[in-house]
Amino acid sequence: MTRIAYTNGMFVPHDYATVSMDDRGYHFADSVYEVIAYNQRGFFVDGKRHLDRLRSSLKALNIPFRMSDQALFLVMHELVRKNRHSEGYVYLQITRGIAPRDHLVRDFLEPTLAMFAEHCTFQETPPHLKVFTVPDIRWKRNDIKSTSLLGVVVGKYQAANKGGDEAWLVNDEGFVTEGGATNAWIVTHKGVVQTHPATNAILNGITRQRLIEIAKDVSIVVEEKPFTVEDAKSAREAFLTSSTKGVHPIIEIDDQKIGNGLMGDITQKLQKAYWHFYQHTKNDYGEIS
Ligand code: PLP
Repeated sequence: MTRIAYTNGMFVPHDYATVSMDDRGYHFADSVYEVIAYNQRGFFVDGKRHLDRLRSSLKALNIPFRMSDQALFLVMHELVRKNRHSEGYVYLQITRGIAPRDHLVRDFLEPTLAMFAEHCTFQETPPHLKVFTVPDIRWKRNDIKSTSLLGVVVGKYQAANKGGDEAWLVNDEGFVTEGGATNAWIVTHKGVVQTHPATNAILNGITRQRLIEIAKDVSIVVEEKPFTVEDAKSAREAFLTSSTKGVHPIIEIDDQKIGNGLMGDITQKLQKAYWHFYQHTKNDYGEIS
């Protein structure tokens, strides 16, 4: 079946989807993006929160984008329908627009919107992952979901070359900020879940935000507080989150076993609760009912 993408206001076969050579996304990574999962019921999981974060990324970079959420959801649903995937995610990118290459543009440009859909199956039993820590060499606005991701590309290669499934990024003070494309969490020996606060140092994951709420519902205490690599290695449990993964346990950090080397109780409880939310979401605003 032909894969369909959306560019320049049209649905086109994925392989024929093009953007201009003069697009600022191509020249400068002057663009933002979102990755939004949809479940087997055909709903975008926390879709509204993703679009809210998209708006705040656009605002932070002063990219004027006029399409409403309603219109965006319409295109996203149509893209999923045309691709006939039972579940997966939509990748959505907005660039500042097209102009001859110059760092500075004073004119108003029409932003470029492009989307594609990818099929994937979300697993009830998540794989157990190994991570390696690498220096966090990114810029200082990681709260913006920008396509400028070289710092992560470099880190992920370093981790993958050692056999890791994900990189954990460590700042100059020795704290783990987040994963290459995921948020990072540990569970202390007191049973408290810890994750980096939502500052400019991290992307405030939509899964992260939802999981903090879910944890409250199941009486698990979450502290938004930075932790060091040593804290992580001696933690009771560790896990990561993202929209395309949900909650995945981490069983090794830098070749060192975490806890008993299996998914811990608290991770399992959160993973099950998030899985339930994910599967049962019945509208794009992310609520279950
Ligand atoms: N942190 C980074 C750097 C990411 O790139 C991502 C996802 O792409 C996340 C965290 C997780 O965010 P979300 O839960 O919104 O998918």
